Amino acid sequence: AAKSDGRRTFRFFEPEMDITARAKHELAVELRRAVADRAFDIHFQPLVDLATGQISGCEALLRWHHPTRGAISPAEFIPLAEEIGLIEELGEWVLAESCREAATWPSHMTVAVNVSPIQFKRQTFALNVALAVARAGLGAHRLELEITEALLLRDNDTTLATLTELRNIGIKIALDDFGTGYSSLSYLHRFPIDKIKIDKSFVARLTDEQSSLTIIQAIVQIAASGDRITLAEGVETSEQRDLLKKIGCTQMQGYLFSPALRTEDLNRLISSGQVPDNAPPPSA
Ligand code: C2E
Ligand code: MG
Ligand code: MG
Ligand code: MG
Repeated sequence: AAKSDGRRTFRFFEPEMDITARAKHELAVELRRAVADRAFDIHFQPLVDLATGQISGCEALLRWHHPTRGAISPAEFIPLAEEIGLIEELGEWVLAESCREAATWPSHMTVAVNVSPIQFKRQTFALNVALAVARAGLGAHRLELEITEALLLRDNDTTLATLTELRNIGIKIALDDFGTGYSSLSYLHRFPIDKIKIDKSFVARLTDEQSSLTIIQAIVQIAASGDRITLAEGVETSEQRDLLKKIGCTQMQGYLFSPALRTEDLNRLISSGQVPDNAPPPSA
């Protein structure tokens, strides 16, 4: 009797689980089609240098405009793309397109591209990256790859070998979302990392939480002692900007300066020569 009760309980939940699975399957089918059709846009968010106030480069951020659901966040579809084996094709496309676009920017500007651990762990990854910059005619020093701490946790030897190979070509490495994962500053000694991107959750609490300020100060100091750049993500207020500048942070990125822009809007901003944060109010 107990067994059949158990079965009944299980069946009770079954239809609901089925709907979730079906919805996910549907999204997976649509994502597969979108990848095949290259039905994505890449938006570019300016990275601002604190010392000069100029745009030093941009981060490429993927956008999927779903036919019926509208814009779906990469935070939602990137994990799905990883799960169903699409991330390599999608990631290679983003890399190639981003390099092509960046080749049209002023030569001091860099492009930062997010890389999934699955994509990074492919044996051919470093070779593909070298091919992408060469085909785009982009100097390798103008490409920055954003990796996450999770990648540095396992397969250290392979990861180190690939990172070293990339560094030898001249490509820069940024450690993204620093502070959210396993956050060991020892990574900085073991791996060739050029930039630390301080996660926006710390920046959000910066002006009203002493502990966030202390953590950011520590990261900035350790990075500076190893000749590394620090970038603060998610800067939304001038108070945050001023405090980060005082601490000695190198770069910033956030809605205070600019959201991720379509290429036309980015090109307009670049040719205007305006520092986004200091832009005068639009004239009538
Ligand atoms: P991320 O790499 O940490 O990118 C920064 C995210 O913060 C972006 O979200 C950006 O739009 C958002 N952001 C920028 N400034 C601000 C701000 O001032 N306030 C707040 N609240 N948010 C801000 P987005 O575009 O939704 O991307 C989410 C994540 O998806 C990215 O986080 C990245 O991990 C992933 N992603 C995006 N594009 C790609 C891609 O081409 N490949 C891979 N593998 N992952 C990608
Ligand atoms: Mg990123
Ligand atoms: Mg980030
Ligand atoms: Mg982030």
